[in-house]
Amino acid sequence: MFEKNLNELADQGLLRRVTERQTPQGAIIHAGGRELINFASNDYLGLASNPDAIVEAREAAEKFGFGAGASRLLCGGTELHRELEESVARFKNTADALLFNSGYAANTGAIPALVTEGDAIFSDELNHASLIDGARLSRARVHIYKHRDMGHLSALLSMTCAGRKMIVTDSVFSMDGDVAPLADINALAREYGAWLYIDDAHGTGVLGKGRGALAHFGIWPDNGIIQMGTFSKALGSLGAFVAADQGTIDWLRNRARTFMFSTALPAPVVAASLCNLRRVEEDAELVETLWDNSRRLLKGIKTLRGDTGASQTPIVPVLRDSVDETLWMAEKLYEFGIYAPAIRPPTVQRPRIRLTASAAHTTEHIEALMLALKDIGGLHRRSI
Ligand SMILES: *Cc1c(COP(=O)(O)O)cnc(C)c1O
Repeated sequence: MFEKNLNELADQGLLRRVTERQTPQGAIIHAGGRELINFASNDYLGLASNPDAIVEAREAAEKFGFGAGASRLLCGGTELHRELEESVARFKNTADALLFNSGYAANTGAIPALVTEGDAIFSDELNHASLIDGARLSRARVHIYKHRDMGHLSALLSMTCAGRKMIVTDSVFSMDGDVAPLADINALAREYGAWLYIDDAHGTGVLGKGRGALAHFGIWPDNGIIQMGTFSKALGSLGAFVAADQGTIDWLRNRARTFMFSTALPAPVVAASLCNLRRVEEDAELVETLWDNSRRLLKGIKTLRGDTGASQTPIVPVLRDSVDETLWMAEKLYEFGIYAPAIRPPTVQRPRIRLTASAAHTTEHIEALMLALKDIGGLHRRSI
């Protein structure tokens, strides 16, 4: 089945394959029988293989076993789950927080629990797929505003007289590495009495000394601001959270279907998240190293005249004009021992090599990337 469709994808250079890694996630990985310098993961702080987290995960496995066996509403959760929620709430300055099994599950569960038919969602056009799906599932009317365009958002808000209004945005956009203007968005939210739902998947552990986008902008999480974040990126584990006022969290516990009807995270996973969250709180240097490397990466690509769009975070896209040429470049980099994948439609409109910096990178890793880019002919060339 689907042979024709698959052939079509292959002809367009859009067929995807999964890759397999033989080592832990990190600055150097082994994949496909090769040693590669890794610029492809979202393990921004190098915590995915944090030895302390592995020890705590092992201890949790011994104490609580692996499978959680049921949802949190039955007997799936442990004291570690609750401790992680309390830690997140403290970290985010909110009354409470609720765990979800993934960022995808958080967005597709929380958004439909917050708004419904008769309500309105205002969504940045480059929002993550899970926000788009959450918005669709909610059955609220979705108004899409141009990327980071406050004039457009303001116009849409002023033209809409729905029940509840909720602005939904990524904090850091996952394929472009630019940052949502949250101070302006928050001001508009107040002006129009809209809630603000922030997906901080790439801001958690990265922005605001690791505390996330609100801390970065100095915005206090007042009622009406809902922060979602994940443990799967900078925090090097798996799972996600929504942090907000007590009423909102209690409501989600009662209405978010991906929370209610899904088995709890395994305790070892929760233990690793707790360990890595504590590390981010205590080790300011780790986040600083990430930012040093991010600036080094961005500057290097710019020096080679690469088009990095509006990136200002560890996510550095190198924008290209054609899918074929982007695939060619990724292939060449691979030959040089560098893993920097081509990102293609439908994930993005404009093809690109997406690079991510990590605190685990050394200056030599970043220099090796620049040398490889020079050797394959630089970044200014527009076609093969
Ligand atoms: C990765 C990502 C998610 C999904 O998180 P997972 O924990 O990987 O399911 C949600 N939102 C954004 C912006 C993301 O980048």
